[in-house]
Formats: sequence, C-alpha cells, structure tokens
Amino acid sequence: MKNYRRYLTALLMVGALIWWAGSSFAKEDIMDKSNQSAQIKVYSVDEDRFITVDRVFKTEEQWKEQLSGEPYEDLAYKILRRQGTEPAFSGRYAKHTEYGVYRCAACGQDLFHSDHKYDSGTGWPSYYQPIARENVDFHEDRSFFMVRTEVVCSRCQSHIGHVFNDGPAPDGERYCMNSAALLFEPLSRNR
Ligand SMILES: [Zn+2]
Repeated sequence: MKNYRRYLTALLMVGALIWWAGSSFAKEDIMDKSNQSAQIKVYSVDEDRFITVDRVFKTEEQWKEQLSGEPYEDLAYKILRRQGTEPAFSGRYAKHTEYGVYRCAACGQDLFHSDHKYDSGTGWPSYYQPIARENVDFHEDRSFFMVRTEVVCSRCQSHIGHVFNDGPAPDGERYCMNSAALLFEPLSRNR
C-alpha cells in the first residue's frame, strides 16, 4: 500500500511537471508575440490604400481547426503552419491566369496581384513582387542544408513560400508560392 501511494505521488508530480512545462512554453510564446506591435500598416486592394490592421495571433490548435475544413486543401495546414511545400505542378494556381488578388489562406490578407504573376516554369505560382512589401515578412530558412529566404504573411506570420533572386525585371525576384497557402478572388477590371 505504501509503495502504491509513493508510486501515485510520483506519477502526480511527473504529471504536474509536464503540465507546468507545457504552460510555461505557452507563456513564452505569448510573451514573444507581445514584443511585436499589435498593429501593422498593409496595402488593401479593396480600399486601394494602406490601412492599419490588427495582427492575427492564434494557437496551433486553433489554426489546425480552422485550416482543416472547407475551402482548404489537405495541405493547407502543413504548408501555412508547418513550412511545408506542395509538389510542383500540383497546385490549383500554378497555371492560373485570371485577373484578381491572391490572399493569405490563413487570415485573408492581400498578398499578390495577378498583374505580377508570371510563368516561371517551376510548377509553383510565381510572382515578381508582392502586392506591397508591407504585406509580407522575410525569415532566413536554413532547412534542408540550404540557405533560403522564407516568405510569410505579415499579418498572421503563416508560411506562404520562398523568394529567390533569379526572377525577371524590375528587381530580379521570384516569389515561389504554394497554391494551398493562397485563396484567389477575381477582381473587376473596371474598378
Ligand atoms: Zn495571413
């Protein structure tokens, strides 16, 4: 009986320790985010000007729940929140040529315009610039023994793709994106 109690106490202590570690990680996460300003200035296609928006912060559980249902592809969560990449030529926007705006599939922020899309031959939707520099952020990505520049949505920090320096004029940039990280909305040309 004594041994059993000791065993139970040890089990409870381990449980408490795991809970404490988990909650302190979560706190660290929140503290990290509080260092960033809560609002950013980004370009809005609908408003045709720069607007101030609140950043979007969600837990990974919340993202998982949101990005698992319609209209998302199975890959959406893996790409947006886990830095995944869809197979070349598999995405719905690789050969897409309609006129309109490509928004972040996680938070809806405007990211790319069809005017800046071109056929890079890579099998991923490619653009020579974002809709505005303010609408994306860049991070150094050292995964897979390469040094690449990761591109994320500036509002929700979700991964959308990478930028390379072998693109066309004016800046020689190639924004290599994942279709599953974007949601397209057609625009009227008469606006
Ligand atoms: Zn976003």
